[in-house]
Amino acid sequence: MSITGDWDRRISRRTLLKTGGSFAAGVTLAGLAGGRAFAQSSYPFTLGVASGDPSQNGVVLWTRLAPDPLAVGGGLPAEPYEVRYEVAKDEGFRKIVRHGTTVALPEEAHSVRVELDNLGPRHEFFYRFKAGNDISPTGHTRTTPPGNAMVESVTFAFVSCQNFPDGYFTPYADVADAADIEAVIHLGDYIYEGPASAVRAHAPRREIMTLDDYRIRHGQYKTDPNLQAAHAAHPWLVTWDDHEFDNNYADLEMDPNMTPEQARARRAAAYRAYWEHMPLSRARKPVGPDLQLYRRFTWGKQATFNVLDGRQYRSDQIAGACTPVDSSGYCADVLRPDRTMLGAEQRAWLFEDLATTKARWNVIAQQTAFAPRNTATDGTRAFAGRDNWDGYVGERQQIVDWLVAQGTPNPVVLTGDSHQHWLRNVPPHYSSFEGAPAATEFMGASVSTGGDRGTVTRFADDPNNPHILFQNNNCGYVRCTLTPEHWTTEYRTVTQVSVPESPASTKATFVVENGRPGAVPAGI
Ligand code: FE
Ligand code: CA
Repeated sequence: MSITGDWDRRISRRTLLKTGGSFAAGVTLAGLAGGRAFAQSSYPFTLGVASGDPSQNGVVLWTRLAPDPLAVGGGLPAEPYEVRYEVAKDEGFRKIVRHGTTVALPEEAHSVRVELDNLGPRHEFFYRFKAGNDISPTGHTRTTPPGNAMVESVTFAFVSCQNFPDGYFTPYADVADAADIEAVIHLGDYIYEGPASAVRAHAPRREIMTLDDYRIRHGQYKTDPNLQAAHAAHPWLVTWDDHEFDNNYADLEMDPNMTPEQARARRAAAYRAYWEHMPLSRARKPVGPDLQLYRRFTWGKQATFNVLDGRQYRSDQIAGACTPVDSSGYCADVLRPDRTMLGAEQRAWLFEDLATTKARWNVIAQQTAFAPRNTATDGTRAFAGRDNWDGYVGERQQIVDWLVAQGTPNPVVLTGDSHQHWLRNVPPHYSSFEGAPAATEFMGASVSTGGDRGTVTRFADDPNNPHILFQNNNCGYVRCTLTPEHWTTEYRTVTQVSVPESPASTKATFVVENGRPGAVPAGI
C-alpha cells in the first residue's frame, strides 16, 4: 500500500464551494478556512470499494476514507476531504465514461457515495476513487437489464450472517470469483454487536452501543479481504436483520430492555453506521432512529425483488409459555392478525406489487424462516419459532393467501438468519402441510456464523416436515440462475471458515419450473 505525504488535501473553501451543490445539501462551511496541516501517513482506502442498488441506468458507488479503521474517526481528523472518482468501460481506465469530485465528511465517517445515472441498461463498468495521490482498489459493477427485456439467463448470489469472530469470510472468495454473478443480495447480520473473540477478536471488545462503536465494528468487518473482493466484484442489494443493531430486537424492544430514549439513541447510531458503510443512496440516510430500507429492484421482465425490512416495524416476539390452541400446533398469540413482522405500510407496499407484477419471478428477499418448521418429532405438531415467521403466523397466512388469491407469478422467498441451507416448499395453510406449495423458499447458510461444524446434510427425510427437501449446516452462500422457464438454485458450501481460504463446492441443486411453485432436485 502506498504511503504518501500529500493526500492530506483538506478540501479548500473554494473547492467546496465549487462542488458543494453537486453532492449534498446541508454541508456547513464553518471551520474549514485556515485549518492546520496534518501529516497523513497511511493509505486511506483500507475498506475497499462497493457498489449497490443497481437500476437499468444507474448504480451507487461507495468507499470510505479510513487509514486506521479500528481508531475513532478512522484515523482521520474531523475535517472534510476531497475524493475523486472515475468510471470506465475498461479495467485500465482508458475509456472513462464518468469522473468527478465529491467530499468525504467527518460527520458521515468520511464515507463517500456517488450516485450514477444515465449509464444505459445491462452495461458493465469499472470504477475507482482517488484521494490525494492514493488510488482505491478497482471495483466492477453493472446496471440491470432494460424494463421490457426478458433476458436469456441471469445469475445472482445471496448471503447472510457473517460473524467476524466465528471465522473468516471465506465463502466470499467464491462469490468474488464468479464472473457470471450480476448482483449479490445480503439478507442481514452483516455485523454482530457482541464482544466475542474466537477465530478472530471483535473490535471494540465490548457490546457496541455508541456511534463510534458501530463505526469501528463496521470498519473492522470491511477489513476482511474476501468480503472486500466480493463487494468490488459485483453490485449488492443489502438489507439487515437483527445483529446490525441488537440481537432479536423488534422495533425498539430489546432484551434486556433499555429505556425508550436509550433504545432510540442506540438504534440511531446503529442505523447511521450501517448507512455510512453500505452502497445505499443518500436518500436513505437515516433520520434519527429511522431508515427506510425496504425497496424494490427489477431485472427487466425476468424478476422483481422486494427487499424487506422485518425488524424496524415488527411487533415484539411473544414471551412466556405457548400452549397450542388446537391440532395446528400453534399458540393463540402467534395467530393474532394484529401482530406484524412488516408493519402495515410495508405490507401494503408489498401486497400492491404482488397483485400487479408482470415479472416472471417474484422474489421476496427477507430475513427469517418463512415456511413453518415442525419441531415435534413424534408425529404431532409444535412450532417453537418465536423470532421467525412461526411467531408471526397470522401475518404470514395473510401473505400466503394474498399470493394465491392474486395469482402472483412464481413467488420465491429468499431467507437468511438460520445459519444453514434449507429448501422449503411453502404450504398453503398453517394448519397442515397438505396442498400444492404456495411459494418456494430458499434459505441460505451463514457466511461464517457458527463457524466450522460437524456436517449435517439431509434430503427430504423428515416425516414431520414433508415440505422440507434439504438441509445442510456448512458455511456458504446460494447461487440462483433465472431463465424464463426455470429457476435453478445451487447451494454452495466451503469446507472451513477457520481459515481464510477453503475450497467451495455445490452441495445440492434444485429447480423451480415456471408456473409450478415448489422446487424439485435438479435432474429429476
Ligand atoms: Fe445470524
Ligand atoms: Ca439474525
